[in-house]
Amino acid sequence: MDICITLDYELFLGAKTGTVKRCLIEPLEAFEHASRNGQVFFTIFVDATYLYRIFQLKEKERDLAADYDSLVLHLQQLKEHGHDIQLHIHPHWAYSNYCNGEWVLDHDHYKLSDLSPDEASRIVAESKELLDEIVGYKTSIFRAGGFSAQPTNLITKIFNDSHIIADSTVCPGTKYDSAQQQYDYVDAPHAQLYRFSDDINQPQENGKFLEIPFTMHHVSPVFHWKLAFNRLFPSKVHKKMGDGESVKTTSESIVERMTRFYDCPVTIDGYKANFLMAAYKRVKRNGCKQLTILGHPKLATPYSVGMLERFVGATTAAGDKFITLTQAIHESKA
Ligand SMILES: [Zn+2]
Repeated sequence: MDICITLDYELFLGAKTGTVKRCLIEPLEAFEHASRNGQVFFTIFVDATYLYRIFQLKEKERDLAADYDSLVLHLQQLKEHGHDIQLHIHPHWAYSNYCNGEWVLDHDHYKLSDLSPDEASRIVAESKELLDEIVGYKTSIFRAGGFSAQPTNLITKIFNDSHIIADSTVCPGTKYDSAQQQYDYVDAPHAQLYRFSDDINQPQENGKFLEIPFTMHHVSPVFHWKLAFNRLFPSKVHKKMGDGESVKTTSESIVERMTRFYDCPVTIDGYKANFLMAAYKRVKRNGCKQLTILGHPKLATPYSVGMLERFVGATTAAGDKFITLTQAIHESKA
């Protein structure tokens, strides 16, 4: 089986954004170390609107100039190491400001659908151009911030304007609606990869774009009780490496998760890395050809890094192959 580890390279989007060093550089080093000392290549979705906003403000803000230099160096190193750098967009950065050493985040433009189509397309295009210049090639795979890649006609306009060929945002079987996130992938297929044009949930044989959805796992409410317990009685192994705060989950969704089974992308994030091996065994048993995994460096914990190391060891020993999304797209065309 092919395994794609995809990572969203971003700061926190809650009350505290955290730092480049703790949310990005240190956890990625830990991930590389845990993955056969850098022999596994990740697909890294860089929050390029954040990058672009720093680029715009760095002449005025000395802290941001230092952050920008560290980010550019880090991204170029990751590319040299063989990772596949691609495009992630959290549009609210374009409207956020830096005051007295802290980011003041805009709360009205969290999703692309909060913007006019032309504005959304412009923000993606300028963010992508900067990222492409830093990595030295044209990125062509997209992941929407907050999993919110709808409406499809907005996303395909952006893809046409910016020459994007593939997306990897869809979490089949799920939907969510909050101020920050809005999506409905209930009808999307649990596929390895498919083409689409008019509706991101509907495979279309000659569709112009490719979707590489996440592999999903059916999570028991018991898991969320354990997660809540770990939050109430924190131990060192579950302390996240990133030093910021996430956007608050809606209280309805917390109640729902603690009382019902729900579908979650297979992930290496924090305590959720707990079901990584079980998810892998299930998809392998079902004969799936590809496992597409989600991760966020900012959410890494000593526990999740240890689980990643075990997972890479076990899957490599079983003859599975780690590939990037660019490789997965090439293989699908072969
Ligand atoms: Zn993100």
